[in-house]
Amino acid sequence: MLPDGERVGRTARLTPVAEGPAAVIEACAETLEAAAAVARREGSPEPTAIGISSPGPLDPRRGIVTDSPNLGADFRGLPLAPELEHRLGLPAFLERDTNVAALAEMTYGAARSVEDFLYLTVSTGFGGSIVSEGRLLHGPDGMAGELGHVQVDLEGATCGCGGVGHVEAYCSGVAIARRARAALKGGRSAFLAQRADRDGPAELGADDVAEGEDAGDLTCARIMAQARAVFAAACVGFVNVFNPSLIVVGGAIAQGQGDRLLRPARDAVSIGTFPTPGARVRIVLADLGGDVSLAGAYPLIADRLVNPRWPRPSASAASA
Ligand SMILES: [Zn+2]
Repeated sequence: MLPDGERVGRTARLTPVAEGPAAVIEACAETLEAAAAVARREGSPEPTAIGISSPGPLDPRRGIVTDSPNLGADFRGLPLAPELEHRLGLPAFLERDTNVAALAEMTYGAARSVEDFLYLTVSTGFGGSIVSEGRLLHGPDGMAGELGHVQVDLEGATCGCGGVGHVEAYCSGVAIARRARAALKGGRSAFLAQRADRDGPAELGADDVAEGEDAGDLTCARIMAQARAVFAAACVGFVNVFNPSLIVVGGAIAQGQGDRLLRPARDAVSIGTFPTPGARVRIVLADLGGDVSLAGAYPLIADRLVNPRWPRPSASAASA
């Protein structure tokens, strides 16, 4: 990738999770080498560093994936950045996917020249990232910004993280699909029953519920309305806590719902927050779509290569 965001080489591969951590690192290294070879054929400059976007939780300072629930126990403590740095002989920097997306939106997208903003993603899960005074907020463990795991209901649904009543337990693809399966079991939705007959109950997803709402199914409408209400309530809290100029909202569900998701949040913020931050903040859709993590790799490495707050992962791993 070049500084203007142009991509000169691109390769994609499935993650061989079932074959274990060594196979995943091998696949990453091979994929990076293949992308670099494409770039070389195009006459581009040699790569100078590697930016890695990964689901969290992770330790960005040491370049370690600490505990990724979607990958499994074998991957706990995986030193992804040091391993790739060693394999490819280039500095490698690891960052949580939503933080990389925030950097992308700040450099190329909806948050250009904005110093204080939140990036939220509503897709399979509910992700967050906090940019304050032009910098990502990390916290001492590098794990700040998990805005989907804020409690909005004291006795509510159980979240994927084990917590109770978290935003993600209502406003995420996983949560909407879980509620759809419960509605199906309870015989509460003719639309979802039809979908389950057609595709199999395991295939029911958030897109089916959104389509059910459009088709006039009351249960689907209730599930989607609750997801939007939780999103709006969360935004009210975030505006009061962080005083952002902007909330940029990405992810497949947000892109699909558009203003239908954002308008109730804008309305709730306009009446539910302190007047000054409420009047300032704008809530907008992300600009960059599905490729947002690729776009963020460049600003990530451009910062980490020169930022003295961020020693090289291999250096800190060696001294640990
Ligand atoms: Zn949670």
